[in-house]
Amino acid sequence: MHGRYYLRSFGCQMNEHDAERIRALLEAEGLERADEPDDAGVLVYNTCTVRKSADDRLAGHLGTAARLKRADPSRVVLVTGCLPQAEQAGFFARFPFVDGALGPQNLRRLPELLHAAVEPGVGGPAGYFEDGEHFSGSLSARRERPYQAWVQVMSGCTNFCSYCIVPFVRGPERSRPAGELVGEVRGLVADGVREVTLLGQNVNAYGGDLRRGGEEDAPSFAGLLRSLDAVEGLERVRFMTSHPKDLGDDLVDAIAELPSVCEHVHLPAQAGSDRVLRAMRRGYTAAEYLERVHALRAAVPDVSITTDLIAGFPGETEVDFEATLDLVREAAFDAAFTFVYSPRQGTRAADLPDQVPPEARRDRVERLIELTQRQALASRLAWVGRRAEVLVEGLSRDGLLHRGRSRQNVTVNVAGAVEPGAIVTVDITAATSTTLRGSV
Ligand code: SAM
Ligand code: SF4
Repeated sequence: MHGRYYLRSFGCQMNEHDAERIRALLEAEGLERADEPDDAGVLVYNTCTVRKSADDRLAGHLGTAARLKRADPSRVVLVTGCLPQAEQAGFFARFPFVDGALGPQNLRRLPELLHAAVEPGVGGPAGYFEDGEHFSGSLSARRERPYQAWVQVMSGCTNFCSYCIVPFVRGPERSRPAGELVGEVRGLVADGVREVTLLGQNVNAYGGDLRRGGEEDAPSFAGLLRSLDAVEGLERVRFMTSHPKDLGDDLVDAIAELPSVCEHVHLPAQAGSDRVLRAMRRGYTAAEYLERVHALRAAVPDVSITTDLIAGFPGETEVDFEATLDLVREAAFDAAFTFVYSPRQGTRAADLPDQVPPEARRDRVERLIELTQRQALASRLAWVGRRAEVLVEGLSRDGLLHRGRSRQNVTVNVAGAVEPGAIVTVDITAATSTTLRGSV
């Protein structure tokens, strides 16, 4: 049927992992992968709607899809992920050439959506948006690399940070049973996987929903890490994203003690003003956040702490913003993602008075970028003259060296004879704000 599919995925790692499942589902339908939309009969766009910039980028790609569909009306255009989930009927009104769409909680219905789209005589586009009782975390995935895998430990989020659309589109927080996860990781290791990355919107809240639901023995996230560390042959465990309010000492100890658990914590701070943090409903103060950063740095040698920051949340004054700069200076981040606040329809913050003018938001994000890039460079330079353990992933951008990642999740360009999938020790000789370089 339609021979080949083209898939384009946007947004976070959860979406990239969903994209691996979409590939597996489409390939099970007999479709083969195409690298360009022109070469495919089925076009699939896996979308993000966390910020307006993501919506804008998608609109450009859908313009291409509309043109290809006009050229050959038998082409099928499907859209998955958070944007159609947020807009539902409004989405089809905006993009009438789309044949079908479904939200992240209905991924396993993709084959059904495809059949509905190609069946002659069925009128109008199909859309599947209900609160999925099915947990797509257990669907099989078409992995990009044989030695690395993502493992979704939870879905959804129930935190309702006031700026964020995620809880509305991905549903409530649900953890997968630990036994199932350990079994999956054992299977992956038997299949050649050396590194897993555990995924969840708030991984360190893992198990809370199970215990509240009566499964008293469900382990915490630290407990889950201990069970995974015991899996024979698993060399590296990464995880993201951690929420500062749920980062207990048991997790700090687990990261410090467990040999397979990598020394990297992505810990979004978002802001440094207590007033803004309260309005964001984040559940911690700047002082509490910094206390957790210091606890991690004290317990875990060479830990890398990275963060997300939002500039220009409604009501944020210059004084509030200076408090964010102060927090960033004290935390000394190893890297940061910096975002301009983007109002998302349906969230509380979108209706707050005192929206910060766009120019002020931009100006603030630029000051954040300048500071966090200086910190990232200092963090990378501190590795020059030292040794890092690197899992080799492939060739570097220019194709002249190999490229991999250190335990701290920093990209390392490696000179010398190495194979993808190997874990090697690299003497670091040079650094930029984003990469290290060295030889085996
Ligand atoms: N669950 C994770 C957490 O709590 O950090 C990540 C969720 S979100 C997909 C990734 C990041 O996008 C957030 O940490 C936040 O910095 C940013 N973000 C979310 N909503 C935003 C908005 N409306 N405007 C700007 N940035 C936003
Ligand atoms: Fe969004 Fe907050 Fe949940 Fe992260 S914790 S997904 S920012 S609501």
